[in-house]
Amino acid sequence: MIIRLKKNISDVEVQKIVSFFTDKGLQIKDASSDNVKVFGIIGDTSAIMENDVYAFDGVESLTRIQVPFKKASKLMNPKPTVIDVCGVKIGGGSFVVMAGPCSVESREQIISVAKSVKASGAQILRGGAYKPRTSPYAFQGLELEGLDLLLEAKKETGLPIITEIQSEDLIPRFVKDVDIIQVGARNMQNFHLLKALGKIDKPILLKRGLSATIEEWLMAAEYILAGGNNKVILCERGIRTFEKYTRNTLDLSAVLAVRELSHLPVIVDPSHSSGKWSMVPDLSKASLAVGADGLIIEVHNNPECALCDGAQSLKPEKFDQLMTDLKKIAPIVGKKIA
Ligand code: PEP
Ligand code: MN
Repeated sequence: MIIRLKKNISDVEVQKIVSFFTDKGLQIKDASSDNVKVFGIIGDTSAIMENDVYAFDGVESLTRIQVPFKKASKLMNPKPTVIDVCGVKIGGGSFVVMAGPCSVESREQIISVAKSVKASGAQILRGGAYKPRTSPYAFQGLELEGLDLLLEAKKETGLPIITEIQSEDLIPRFVKDVDIIQVGARNMQNFHLLKALGKIDKPILLKRGLSATIEEWLMAAEYILAGGNNKVILCERGIRTFEKYTRNTLDLSAVLAVRELSHLPVIVDPSHSSGKWSMVPDLSKASLAVGADGLIIEVHNNPECALCDGAQSLKPEKFDQLMTDLKKIAPIVGKKIA
């Protein structure tokens, strides 16, 4: 970390700033010249918050050299992390497709969708049991009954399941029955939940927050990693921008940024990114082309009657065509698709 001090700073104020760092076991290297007063801070500065440094009047600017997300960073751990989910490998050259309805609605629906996405080549079944809805009057999910139906679909098809957790009290049940625990965009900074998920041994899919920067997202992953759970999969699901034509704006550059900065696998959700089923196939292909490690896609057997997110859900036959196309593209971009 490099800090530049204001020209007219008093010696007393300089001393206070020096002590702030040395009290934390860090060393100061004075690199000042006649015109500028600059200090290099040497040591592990990841715990230093920028706002605390700017609390000193005499600080002009601060430049971080070290990333604050130590465990998520590629600098500390250059080898790509590969997460094994019931034999399905996520990260490190494979391309894994998770698919299923936004919400589990009934036995017939989840079993029918599970069978069809499996036949098309999906390797993980998605389905929301607890739904985070904007309106309290909208369908909230079948909750524990939904979880039971997901287990029936798993039994029927052999597909591992991913579903969203909303609160810490559900962790024991999810650890027992769910193969990947999804943390939704709205909970990306629910630090209490993230800390609790850090203490378990279960893959976590961490969606990017609605308006989260890439650094905030990686810091959220850091909460889980810091607790000892190193099975984190990141998911870009579109961010809030001024654009209204699509539900969100898919930030494909975030996939590239994560690949540059982190060893964690990163997948894309083209359904929530766009909000339109017609855009899902091409956004999926683009995600594969930029090097994502997989996709999570909403598929519904009767989208017109879906209780949630029908407008962005692919019909099984469209999903099947997409899988055929992805299988053709994968070898060209160096990815293995099962
Ligand atoms: C979902 O996957 O159904 C969902 C609610 O996603 P997000 O948290 O990205 O909005
Ligand atoms: Mn949805």
